[in-house]
Amino acid sequence: MAALLLIVAAGSGSRLGRPEPKALVPLGGRPLLSWTLDAFAPVAFDRTVVTAPPDRVEDFGRVVGDRGRVVAGGDTRAASVRRGFEALAPSDGDVVAVHDAARPFLRPEEIRAVLAAAETTGAAIAATPVVDTIKRVAAGRVVATVDRSQLAGAATPQAFRAGVLRKVVAAGEEATDEAALCERLGLPVAVVPVSRLSFKITTPEDLELAEAIAARRRT
Ligand code: C5P
Repeated sequence: MAALLLIVAAGSGSRLGRPEPKALVPLGGRPLLSWTLDAFAPVAFDRTVVTAPPDRVEDFGRVVGDRGRVVAGGDTRAASVRRGFEALAPSDGDVVAVHDAARPFLRPEEIRAVLAAAETTGAAIAATPVVDTIKRVAAGRVVATVDRSQLAGAATPQAFRAGVLRKVVAAGEEATDEAALCERLGLPVAVVPVSRLSFKITTPEDLELAEAIAARRRT
């Protein structure tokens, strides 16, 4: 069994309001993507593929260096996962971890726990606790309070036995994560609790928070 890593990094990051693709946005003076690759360095992966915006494959290649292969992503996250999966060319017994480049701060033991859960269950997601009280709202009014104990924030990595991810990819559907596609196919997905440090950098405020964390890690 090989452990394979797919980092999806082909998004534009328009919500960050920056001209460069999100994975190349500087964090502590170097590209966000290099922090994410560092987070995975302590865990042994046999092959790594990174998806990049099609016109930035060379720039991404300079950041990734010999840590993986860069391929052009697609128009949507699901399309990028399809292309990355093909580039990894896994055997059915392998385990494939899919990770958002925009989540740079996860811990090695969290990555290992997701891989182990995927081996056992077929699919597993990293998930963060929901700390706020969540309201269902409509037209500016509260409709209901949702039972928080039944909620989890879906993060990445999400790991799959390659045969499972192959089915998901073949279904050719769109979703904001691969676990949602497993659910539609009725496949079980294990949940691995992870720290809230695995947040996704999406908005300028997230980047500000990430800069503070990066500064602490450099000292
Ligand atoms: O847009 P969002 O932040 O939800 O994207 C999650 C991850 O998917 C990001 O790391 C982004 O680079 C990646 N992505 C991709 N190809 C796309 C869109 C998003 O690889 N077409």
